Amino acid sequence: MRVNAYAAPAAGRPLAPTTVERRDVGTNDVLIEIEFAGICHSDIHTVNGDWGPQPFPVVPGHEIVGVVAEVGSAVSTHRVGDRVGVGCMVNSCGECTNCRNGDEQYCLQGMVGTYAATDRDGTTTQGGYSTHVVVDAGFVLRVPEGIDPAAAAPLLCAGITTYSPLRRWGAGPGRRVAVVGLGGLGHMAVKLAHAMGAEVTVLSQSLKKQEDGLRLGADAYFATGDPATFDELAGRFDLIVNTVSASIDVNAYLSLLTVDGALVNVGAPADPFAVNAMSLIGGRRTFAGSMIGGIAETQEMLDFCAAHGIGAEVEVIAAERVNEAYERVLASDARYRFVIDAATLR
Ligand SMILES: [Zn+2]
Ligand SMILES: [Zn+2]
Repeated sequence: MRVNAYAAPAAGRPLAPTTVERRDVGTNDVLIEIEFAGICHSDIHTVNGDWGPQPFPVVPGHEIVGVVAEVGSAVSTHRVGDRVGVGCMVNSCGECTNCRNGDEQYCLQGMVGTYAATDRDGTTTQGGYSTHVVVDAGFVLRVPEGIDPAAAAPLLCAGITTYSPLRRWGAGPGRRVAVVGLGGLGHMAVKLAHAMGAEVTVLSQSLKKQEDGLRLGADAYFATGDPATFDELAGRFDLIVNTVSASIDVNAYLSLLTVDGALVNVGAPADPFAVNAMSLIGGRRTFAGSMIGGIAETQEMLDFCAAHGIGAEVEVIAAERVNEAYERVLASDARYRFVIDAATLR
């Protein structure tokens, strides 16, 4: 079927209305009528060519929420009318060690990205800035009742990207967690760590968003532009989640960790980190990274968010405003995620 979409025709060009072909619903497939698609910073990097050549035209969007319109004959996990979501991946080999461990995002054959990737049938995937998408049922998540569907969309990337390291490194009662950067990822990290029961501190360049940070669940908020911050917080945190994709003075942040503390990166700066071994050795510290989460863990995150009444802070826009939204994301003027209303594409 041909469906309406917004696509980037070439690197760095504005997105424009178009149509894309969606495959027939196979035995294991789910056809989703899209309601909302979040705008992730990765979408912008991809269509601007920051991450290398892309198979243009590219329909971005990997924070998708919608309603099941049709299921294949072998699908028992989803029914017509269910509210569902799709995140950053739509397929993987299903057989390698990592896939079998529920870490499909680290599939040894390479996970299939939701857009601008080659699917296992050889076709190019197209993302969620569209009215419909067909996805293998194994990569379709249940969106529980109780989360507003627009606010649920960013959970599929920003939510799981921060939930996974918080869980893995034990955010919870009695643990001190710092979140570096209060953007799309950072605001979710604050909400999730707070709901897990951790003591949460935001480390941001300035105090400009302090009121927001405290409202979202932070217990404290410090400006990293003030050198006194690093003296005051030395050795304080069990876990620091770094959500910024700009370069940071990583050794200064490592000095804020307790013995056995971990600094986990979920942003991806273009330049290498310069880690002094002493910053790690001097406190048995861990310097780590984490990329989204597996399918089972993503479902666990959605269920956790529903149980705790958590959604993203969103600004819902018509599809025709997507280019303007991109400029505002690049200017750090998003509070905190733009979400496209797919009804405006019909
Ligand atoms: Zn994303
Ligand atoms: Zn695999």
